[in-house]
Amino acid sequence: MKTDVIIIGAGASGLMCAAACGKRGRTVLVLDHAERMGSKVLISGGGRCNFTNVNASSEHYLSANPHFCRSALARFTPRDFLALVEKHHIRYYEKEAGQLFCAGSSREILAMLKQECDARQVQFLLKHGVAAVQKDKDFSVTTDHGKFRADSLVIATGGLSYANLGATDIGHRIAKQFGLKVVPPKPALVPLLLTSGDQKAFRELAGISLDAVVSCGKKSFRGNILFTHRGLSGPAILQASSYWNKGDRIVIDLLPDRSIHDEFQDKRESRTTMQNLLSGHFPRRFAQTWCDLALVSKPIIQYSDKELRRIADQLHAWEIVPGGNEGYTVADVTAGGVDTRELSSKTMEAATVSGLYFIGEVMDVTGELGGYNLHWAWASGHAAGEFA
Ligand SMILES: Cc1cc2nc3c(=O)[nH]c(=O)nc-3n(C[C@H](O)[C@H](O)[C@H](O)COP(=O)(O)OP(=O)(O)OC[C@H]3O[C@@H](n4cnc5c(N)ncnc54)[C@H](O)[C@@H]3O)c2cc1C
Repeated sequence: MKTDVIIIGAGASGLMCAAACGKRGRTVLVLDHAERMGSKVLISGGGRCNFTNVNASSEHYLSANPHFCRSALARFTPRDFLALVEKHHIRYYEKEAGQLFCAGSSREILAMLKQECDARQVQFLLKHGVAAVQKDKDFSVTTDHGKFRADSLVIATGGLSYANLGATDIGHRIAKQFGLKVVPPKPALVPLLLTSGDQKAFRELAGISLDAVVSCGKKSFRGNILFTHRGLSGPAILQASSYWNKGDRIVIDLLPDRSIHDEFQDKRESRTTMQNLLSGHFPRRFAQTWCDLALVSKPIIQYSDKELRRIADQLHAWEIVPGGNEGYTVADVTAGGVDTRELSSKTMEAATVSGLYFIGEVMDVTGELGGYNLHWAWASGHAAGEFA
């Protein structure tokens, strides 16, 4: 069987690309080894699909080639995706910081993409595992159910996280097979693990959530942090995790809106204990554990100036060196991937292999939390769909 285009991967980017290719009159076949299409779209945003972010622009993406994503983002904006959503009468709302979610269910987004494909006679073959890809005058894709040929081949196989939903490294392997570089992949938007000593010390705090600013290198994120049984999670930690590499320090400001040192000065003569004072800012359990671990709680009047300065510094810049992260089984996305320096930023086509395209999470473009990753899937899928 021969079509103009074969897309491997019926996820977010593959479906968007299929609809865009179909719109140009191209015959399109989408192959996927999973039993159903768009599994990650379905579970995204806790089932409500945070499908885009009105602030989508290159500064919200991590890549070894930071400007690469600009062109595709400029040519397919959040407004363009919203036009589709509105055309399909899908109700949505803005949660916070530009994050747009379905008011109903992420199933509506998947149904929308499927309808856009069906309107252009896109063919789907699910439960078709791809065994090999070859190129002579055109591309041939060998699956466990036969061979398929096409003039253009689009790799939309996503990242490595959630293998139970169909994630594999085939996209990275195909890139390497054709001589393209792959930026080493790593789990991103993932909870961090504390070292075993810290785990023991903070175990009692599991379930406690605090507003904080989390910094890793030059990147800082404001939001909640959540103590887990094994480490730290919550939006601000997940964001920082994408920038974290083994051995790096994470610095956490536990009181971002105030100077606790100024408050110590205001209460310099007070007989209130440190634990009571901190309980005014934190859950009591946290204040107690912090005092037990970091200092002896006594009335403020009894501390030396040096001690108060040290305590304030620790609260505003709590330094930890995580022991690791929770890995691909729970990571929202994969950082790294096909090196974008090998691809055209306009078309997503490999510079050295004509007709071979990479889109979505398989490539080295990783969005921050908040709808940016799906928006990259739409924008890159649309860009390739205009040329493949
Ligand atoms: C729990 C969770 C929640 C998320 N929530 C959000 C959110 O709310 N907003 C947001 O922006 N992002 C979110 N993301 C990230 C987002 O879902 C992904 O970045 C996005 O789906 C990537 O699109 P993609 O097309 O590149 O890959 P995918 O959507 O993962 O699709 C890849 C497809 O390729 C197929 N495939 C893989 N290997 C093979 C193979 N060997 N042969 C054939 N087919 C293959 C897979 O079966 C899959 O269907 C979330 C991710 C997770 C895990």
